[in-house]
Amino acid sequence: MVVSVHQLDDGAWLSVNDSRSVPVSQLWLLARHDFCGCEQADFLAEGFVEVGVDWPDIEGRIAGQCVVCGASGVTDWLTLGRVSRETGEFRQVVPSSVHVPERRTRLANPE
Ligand SMILES: [Zn+2]
Repeated sequence: MVVSVHQLDDGAWLSVNDSRSVPVSQLWLLARHDFCGCEQADFLAEGFVEVGVDWPDIEGRIAGQCVVCGASGVTDWLTLGRVSRETGEFRQVVPSSVHVPERRTRLANPE
């Protein structure tokens, strides 16, 4: 199954299969991150910098700031949502649940 993933409008939207799927201006709760000094960062997304597919996950790096301490920058890779294996439908993760950014060190998922 082919999934096409882009960012649109200067990073304001994540587009999956040509439909606008995830907007910025959402608060993401980040844990075990090195974005800033906060144990849990309340990260306000301002723009998608890079997006990609690690099947069935859609991942991205997001520019924005921590509203707790004010640090700004770009996150490591976050899982933004998942594509259903059955229907090909995209489901966004819940931004306000806890997310752990990952440095991407692998080329493919061995599973
Ligand atoms: Zn912070």
